[in-house]
Amino acid sequence: MAEDFDVIIVGTGAGGGTLAHTLAPSGKRILLLERGDFLTRELENWDPEPVFVDGRYISPDTWYDGAGTPFQPQVHYFVGGATKMYGAALYRLRPQDFAEMRHVDGISPAWPLGYDEFEPWYTKAEWLYQVHGEHGTDPTEGPWSRQYPWPPVSHEPRIQEISDSLERGGYHPFPGPCGIMLNEADRAASNCIRCATCDGYPCLVHAKADADIIAVRPLLGMPTVTLLTNAEVVRLETGPAGRTVTGVVVDRGGDGKEEVYHGDIVVLAAGAANTAKILLRSASDACPSGLANGSDQVGRNYMYHNSKAAVALGKEPNDTIFQKTLGINDFYFPGDDREWPLGNIQLLGKSNAMAMKGEEPHLTRLAPQWSLEEVAKHAVDFWLTTEDLPKPDNRVTVERDGNVRLAYADTNDSEAAALYVEFRKILNHIGMAEHHVLHKNYYMSMNVAVAGVAHQAGTCRFGTDPAASVLDVNCKAHEVDNLYVADTSIFPSIGAVNPALTAIANAIRVGEHIAERLGVSASALAWAPVQRGAPAETAEAPAAAKRS
Ligand SMILES: Cc1cc2nc3c(=O)[nH]c(=O)nc-3n(C[C@H](O)[C@H](O)[C@H](O)COP(=O)(O)OP(=O)(O)OC[C@H]3O[C@@H](n4cnc5c(N)ncnc54)[C@H](O)[C@@H]3O)c2cc1C
Repeated sequence: MAEDFDVIIVGTGAGGGTLAHTLAPSGKRILLLERGDFLTRELENWDPEPVFVDGRYISPDTWYDGAGTPFQPQVHYFVGGATKMYGAALYRLRPQDFAEMRHVDGISPAWPLGYDEFEPWYTKAEWLYQVHGEHGTDPTEGPWSRQYPWPPVSHEPRIQEISDSLERGGYHPFPGPCGIMLNEADRAASNCIRCATCDGYPCLVHAKADADIIAVRPLLGMPTVTLLTNAEVVRLETGPAGRTVTGVVVDRGGDGKEEVYHGDIVVLAAGAANTAKILLRSASDACPSGLANGSDQVGRNYMYHNSKAAVALGKEPNDTIFQKTLGINDFYFPGDDREWPLGNIQLLGKSNAMAMKGEEPHLTRLAPQWSLEEVAKHAVDFWLTTEDLPKPDNRVTVERDGNVRLAYADTNDSEAAALYVEFRKILNHIGMAEHHVLHKNYYMSMNVAVAGVAHQAGTCRFGTDPAASVLDVNCKAHEVDNLYVADTSIFPSIGAVNPALTAIANAIRVGEHIAERLGVSASALAWAPVQRGAPAETAEAPAAAKRS
């Protein structure tokens, strides 16, 4: 194997995998370094007990909280990264999220580029990741230049009832954007069987549009692309001035033996916490507080959403299988009698007894299996998201043993509480609050603790001011000539919708910029993705699945 590459990309998740996919047609020699392996296809992929109770796909890392207490973070080190487990709810941020927004606990800062500038990459991301949805149905969304490649995943009957009741109550529910490979017109050619196991599970039939299936695997036969798995990047080496990365130091197999790879350009996309960790561990005489960290911003401004999973129990059974088809943004912005933006409400994957046990071991410890099954049968599962603000003291540092320390305190708790109040009002319109009173149904809710790092972001934000940001507008480190970052760490603010589509869109943007820097025009990067039963960017959708 050649040891010199044009581009080395660290991490194969939403950011790294997508960036590799973007650059690969350039013919440049690309090395992908991935700490994990391919996630094994096995029956356990869809079994809630190993997934939720045993945590089979959670990596055995130890991190420390701000007080120094160790915990196991919910991280997933595989080809595809966290997207192997994600729910594939692929939302755009709102245009207002790219501008400064006032919140009860402070200011959500503006991005260094506006929504209009970013929009073309959202469209590319939606087409690459096969998103099903319908632009024009969510009153808070921004302008879009192209409709989603696929129509929305249709609601199952109980969810359709809920959607209709919400509309009658004056709300504006819309079809949730889903990144799955489902071709409703041609089921024989599709992978997705619309099972309940999407959110939080790997997809056994490879129908989830994750970074492994969509972005990385199509590259594997290419002579110019090399993927090394079980290759953990431990630090970057630089020239004496600390302005050029000269080597990427890799531990393969955890035996302490290190290998060094060389690339003209190096891109970090190891996830928000691990990207910061790599930079901090790359401290040298030239940059004693960490690489690219003259501003002392690396690791700071960690965000992860102020979220709540809430399970509403109704009298009616809910036999929905694929539940993630509905979103509500009526409270996203201030308005009516609301002074503050509250956030997004969307449906989650359908709960089952085992998942409840795994997610809430204390609450469900004494509950017999049959009672949990009865609860799950009537459950409708919601995910409430309020924006978390970037605070300098919410930060990643590196402990003496080399592990991540994550100091974090919630922000916008009162907005999250107000969103929960609105959620309960919503339940009135779908008949659940009434049942709660008359039939002893109840709402169960779970707060997500700091170990739930699924939506981690911040730590290396991009911006125009080198004193207040780590990266420039192209996501190149201000202080290093050949170092880029392309994962959720670049987020200056996180908004209140799921982060992956924004990370994907930005990775395409940064990939195109790097190609141009290497002398390849973005138009030479056009791909014809080869997904079964799904349209390519340049191809026509099968006639029956086209929109009217
Ligand atoms: C259960 C779950 C559900 C989710 N649901 C949604 C959803 O519905 N919608 C949504 O938008 N988002 C969702 N997310 C979040 C989404 O998956 C992440 O925002 C997104 O994957 C982040 O992309 P990333 O590139 O920053 O990191 P990742 O996708 O995590 O990629 C980081 C990669 O770097 C690798 N890596 C780490 N350290 C090193 C190292 N030192 N050397 C080499 N490789 C390294 C990791 O193994 C991984 O492959 C969910 C996440 C989880 C866990």
